[in-house]
Amino acid sequence: MPDVRIKSPNVDDIFEKWKQKTNRQKKKNLEKNFGTKGAVFSLDAISAGETIKDTQKEAAIYFTVEQKVEASKEQKEETGAIRDLSKQNFYSIKGASVDKSKWQGPEIVPVFESITKVPCDSCKGKGYIETQCKECSKGIKTTPMTVLVGAEQKKEKKDFQYNCPTCFKAGTIKDKCKKCDGYGTLYKWKVLPVPFKSLSQHVPKLYSSAKTKFEKQIGEELQKVIESVEGIKITNVKELNDKKIEPNLGYYNKNISKIVKSASSDYQKLDKDKDHRMTSPIWVFPMIQLFCESKKGSKFEIYAVGSEQKFFIYDNF
Ligand SMILES: [Zn+2]
Ligand SMILES: [Zn+2]
Repeated sequence: MPDVRIKSPNVDDIFEKWKQKTNRQKKKNLEKNFGTKGAVFSLDAISAGETIKDTQKEAAIYFTVEQKVEASKEQKEETGAIRDLSKQNFYSIKGASVDKSKWQGPEIVPVFESITKVPCDSCKGKGYIETQCKECSKGIKTTPMTVLVGAEQKKEKKDFQYNCPTCFKAGTIKDKCKKCDGYGTLYKWKVLPVPFKSLSQHVPKLYSSAKTKFEKQIGEELQKVIESVEGIKITNVKELNDKKIEPNLGYYNKNISKIVKSASSDYQKLDKDKDHRMTSPIWVFPMIQLFCESKKGSKFEIYAVGSEQKFFIYDNF
């Protein structure tokens, strides 16, 4: 089948559609920005010619991807002293199911509620390690003396005994246990997977060649109305290239070429990823960007995404 050029909507149609929509949804805002004091407000008073300051012909690429989110199966147990407890962050996420796309942090975390006391295995819970005193024998030290006994002054060697000042006659020395810092206690805790919601989400991806801050919003809005928007449908990502897109759009620029490349490479990456599943064809839409200014001088933009027949509009009015 030969490629058919898709016709982008004309500026007057876009503006008319925007007026009708805004009149339904934000009438007060419309009156405030376009009304004249003393005159009855009418939509006819809002002219495209006076409001639109500039237009830009761009393109948008859109597809949706299902993100499978599952909690990790990995878990482990760790042991440490009091000093180790204060060195790391513990988490308390009892029963809550966490949105993985918003979670910032590791996928498995030390759980506060799992901390339990265990006796230190190094000192058997005593807090100290006992060793023989090297200065004495069983707490007693001896020093040799010569004693002259009796009238004959017979020399006798005697050992004089006294208490050891190193161990205070205990015979043993107690050193603080290095493993538990003397507390006698260690702590065990579990490192468990963050309880991510195990549902899958359809995430819209939108690439716009227009310089806009609204890519995310436009993508989300487009997801709701995708059935009623017409574009160039691409079922094989290999066809997402300049050679195919340019004749279909009927116009082209450097930025469009750029998004064609990045959308194509993202799509292929996601397609290979086991946590993602592509859930829509790739759509390339004409995108007309209107730079507007109201009678009262407030600036806003209108975007039309789709063909002449079926397009949707987004604005930041
Ligand atoms: Zn210890
Ligand atoms: Zn001693």
